[in-house]
Amino acid sequence: MRIAVFPGSFDPFTIGHKDIADRALRMFDILIIGIGYNINKPGISGILEDRVKAIEKVFEGNDRIKVEAYSGLTVDFAKRHGAEFIVRGLREVKDFEYERNLADTNAAISDIETVFLTARPDLGFISSSMVRELKANGYDTSRFLPN
Ligand code: ADP
Repeated sequence: MRIAVFPGSFDPFTIGHKDIADRALRMFDILIIGIGYNINKPGISGILEDRVKAIEKVFEGNDRIKVEAYSGLTVDFAKRHGAEFIVRGLREVKDFEYERNLADTNAAISDIETVFLTARPDLGFISSSMVRELKANGYDTSRFLPN
């Protein structure tokens, strides 16, 4: 069984995230979407629950996908689930610099391998922060979000 974790904030979960998850499912038997949160941020539990439910709904009927919120280190979350891989998406060089650092750190403290998927060219400009910004200014963001 190849089990991978796809960690992120997913605030919100976009069609860019969905594409990475769908492609990761071609390589792994089980994909656990982990919504990372900071335990020091109060009042987030209700929001997290909604986010878990919303992402679960996107993959309804697919029993190879699990969605769970977690705090703490991603490698510890992965180990708890018996996952040997972390999946991350790369949109641009800036992502790469940050992600390589994370991957190297995780490799230094565990046996977990990080696997990178480059963003689909037509989805690479989509980010959660861009969606939040548009939404806050009254724009319809539905075309950036999974059904
Ligand atoms: P984080 O706060 O950990 O960066 P995000 O929710 O922003 O979490 O992103 C989670 C992962 O998805 C990251 O690896 C990010 O690079 C990737 N990602 C985000 N948007 C896209 C996209 N449009 N296409 C491909 N990968 C993406």
